[in-house]
Amino acid sequence: MHELGIVSGILDTVSRAARDAGALRVVAVTLRIGDMREVVPETLDFAWDVLSEDDELMRGSVLRVEAVRPRSRCLSCGEEFEHDRFHVRCPACGSAETHLLAGRELEIVSMEVDLP
Ligand SMILES: [Zn+2]
Repeated sequence: MHELGIVSGILDTVSRAARDAGALRVVAVTLRIGDMREVVPETLDFAWDVLSEDDELMRGSVLRVEAVRPRSRCLSCGEEFEHDRFHVRCPACGSAETHLLAGRELEIVSMEVDLP
């Protein structure tokens, strides 16, 4: 369950930023996560609920996730295409030599906080 590690790292980062900004509490956090990260949304939510309880600033905050569809470029013919986690073969020429352009994101997009 690597979601625990992901959530733990993000909570640390957000909590520190919120504290530095003098926030009273964090209301919501938006993440962008590529499908190639193989994050299970339910597990991520569960980990968030459990771990955010331990931090006064994070308690009760809402986690929002923007999923990013994987996209690759074919190294044989140059075609760019979207795909899922399991099928990365070029739809134009059938080559398996591809380069991933998007889909491994793991970023904090934004956070909403209450300020005094
Ligand atoms: Zn191709």
